[in-house]
Amino acid sequence: MKITRIETFLVPPRWLFCRIETDDGVVGWGEPVVEGRAEVVRAAVGVLAEHLIGQDPLRIEDHWQVLTKGGFYRGGPVLSSAVAGIDQALWDIAGKTYGAPVHALLGGPVRERVRVYAWVGGDEPAELTEQITAQVEAGFTAVKMNAAGATSPITTAAETAAVVARVAAARAALGPDRDVAVDFHGRFTAASARRVLAELAPLHPLFVEEPVVPEHGHLLPGLVASTPIPLATGERLYSRAEFLPALSAGIAVAQPDLSHAGGISEVHRIASLADTYGAQLAPHCPLGPIALAASLQVAFATPNFLIQEQSRGIHYNKDADLLSYLADPAPFRFVDGHAPLNDAPGLGITIDDAAVRAADRSGHAWRNPVWRHADDSFAEW
Ligand SMILES: [Mg+2]
Repeated sequence: MKITRIETFLVPPRWLFCRIETDDGVVGWGEPVVEGRAEVVRAAVGVLAEHLIGQDPLRIEDHWQVLTKGGFYRGGPVLSSAVAGIDQALWDIAGKTYGAPVHALLGGPVRERVRVYAWVGGDEPAELTEQITAQVEAGFTAVKMNAAGATSPITTAAETAAVVARVAAARAALGPDRDVAVDFHGRFTAASARRVLAELAPLHPLFVEEPVVPEHGHLLPGLVASTPIPLATGERLYSRAEFLPALSAGIAVAQPDLSHAGGISEVHRIASLADTYGAQLAPHCPLGPIALAASLQVAFATPNFLIQEQSRGIHYNKDADLLSYLADPAPFRFVDGHAPLNDAPGLGITIDDAAVRAADRSGHAWRNPVWRHADDSFAEW
């Protein structure tokens, strides 16, 4: 079997899909994307495709080695995401060829269902109670919310109080048996994070995510030591090597993104690395159906797995949503806040080829907003 064609599709709301076709007629799908830089990743996939055309798709690990290291320069979000989407598509082809779900090829399922959480509150949390109540009624046992919008370098008393009030409102709506995770989104300095974490601790969040930006990862040991709240990070880390310092700093939850951190191959290895630190896996996935399907395959086969992000109804999904490009939505029909074990071959989903091709004709130009502080200086989004 040989790879004969590699195509990419720029589809709303902000995604990039990759389709790999073989001379046996087997087709695999992947989702290589950096949100807001989809066109750049598309170009990277085009360059990497030069290596793959005419090759055996089943030599996934050898391709991963060459695509990741063969260009001498390595790493970073663009290249790692291009490799990630290709890797997902190759695993999809392997599963369809062997007639097995990807989780079977990773060692078989270790759980019967995967707990997922829903987003509430949008970029700047509002009307939280109503949104949380709706998600609880839909069966979810956990939600995630942003802590705050643009935040002063040293949070004011009012800003700190507003964060605490939002999380307290969430806790009140959820009760003690459900979970709220809080995303700092790298918007806080380490000093502000320490101060806010201290006040959030009594509200017992599941975890606090990206307490600082990734380039301040050297400050994680101090933050971990300062709080009983489990700290999470990883959506902007792209390899085992980049997770190692965060894990040795004592983060409780590793959040690699299946579409950024080298795909199924590398995230499966990151999960094993995290296990040696007693850390749990909770893959980042505010993305599309292929990234979620890849995430779930890893979740089914990973013992130290905590919970899965998913994007249905997320504030970014304006012109299309999680189910828009699926021929059959069954794999993402959540029951009691969990995705059921899926034994279909490959990634376990069927992409609507015609819908994807039609969407690519209009494409998208999604960009994240650029935020400013009150004095017009740059603020983290
Ligand atoms: Mg996040």
